[in-house]
Amino acid sequence: DRVIAAAATREDEAIEASIRPKRLDEYLGQQAVREQLAIYIEAARRRGEALDHVLIFGPPGLGKTTLSHVIANELGVNLRSTSGPVLERAGDLAALLTNLEPRDVLFVDEIHRLSPVVEEVLYPAMEDFQIDIMIGEGPAARSIKLDLPPFTLIGATTRAGLLTSPLRDRFGIVQRLEYYSPAELTAIVRRSAKILGIACDADGAGEIARRSRGTPRIANRLLRRARDFAEVKAGGTITRDAAMAAMDLVKVDPEGFDELDRRLLRIIIESFDGGPVGADSLAAALSEDRGTIEDVLEPYLIQQGFLVRTARGRMATARAWRHFGLAPPRVPAA
Ligand code: ADP
Repeated sequence: DRVIAAAATREDEAIEASIRPKRLDEYLGQQAVREQLAIYIEAARRRGEALDHVLIFGPPGLGKTTLSHVIANELGVNLRSTSGPVLERAGDLAALLTNLEPRDVLFVDEIHRLSPVVEEVLYPAMEDFQIDIMIGEGPAARSIKLDLPPFTLIGATTRAGLLTSPLRDRFGIVQRLEYYSPAELTAIVRRSAKILGIACDADGAGEIARRSRGTPRIANRLLRRARDFAEVKAGGTITRDAAMAAMDLVKVDPEGFDELDRRLLRIIIESFDGGPVGADSLAAALSEDRGTIEDVLEPYLIQQGFLVRTARGRMATARAWRHFGLAPPRVPAA
């Protein structure tokens, strides 16, 4: 397992419950999102109405689940939580919806993975707060309409483009989460350290933040690895030196790359002269499947400007060559 994976591990889940921000002013970064939501939430509260349905999209670990809890807390309502793949049958969703209190939030993670039959139930529920359910079976079966309390659906997904357009159109509020800046992540690390009783100075937090790939979940995980190191090897406090040594130990470099990232870049540079190289050749050379390369490895390398995707394949940028102390080819191979 990669220490810089964006998906939650069991250990993350156990800790995240205690450090997850509960109010909007504890939710750091994402300033535009926060400003807009603060207004919509206040307006809904003053009118005593349910907040419009909210779609939140962005890469894993950036705070979609957290933001949903924050919204429910700020509205002063309950949050029920489920996910696209868990809702197998229409009845599963109907049961959840009919048990909501007025103005409650229903959070559906991975909403792009809803089955079509469940999605059909969701349309009238979102639009008119009504569902059609089938009673009985065979020729005696009939459909009845049920009224639902007004509620807010919050859907989370990694990419808005994964949703069907009828579903996407039913969200009044659409928010995109961005990768966090090192300064924002430093603030997040310092906040988590305080809650968890970890001694961590500003430089130590900054060093962890820079290597966290713009992602709070990774920052919080690296903070725990740095704590282990500091307690055993560095007198208990996470200073810059302790953080650097701890990150070396888990092999996360100053760009937040791990061995797999570095291996991918080196193969393009050393075995393919910097590229372009096709996804399948790269997959074979790395012994990783193509999906993992495209969905897990490449996005961050591309976002950081170390890799580009061209029509003829992947190419390492000059930045990637320099990362390994190599001189980039003077005439780009493309
Ligand atoms: P996602 O649902 O997008 O995968 P989560 O909401 O589970 O991500 O966030 C992962 C962890 O990162 C949370 O438990 C929380 O501790 C931390 N986190 C996320 N966003 C923020 C934020 N804006 N401020 C502080 N901590 C955050």
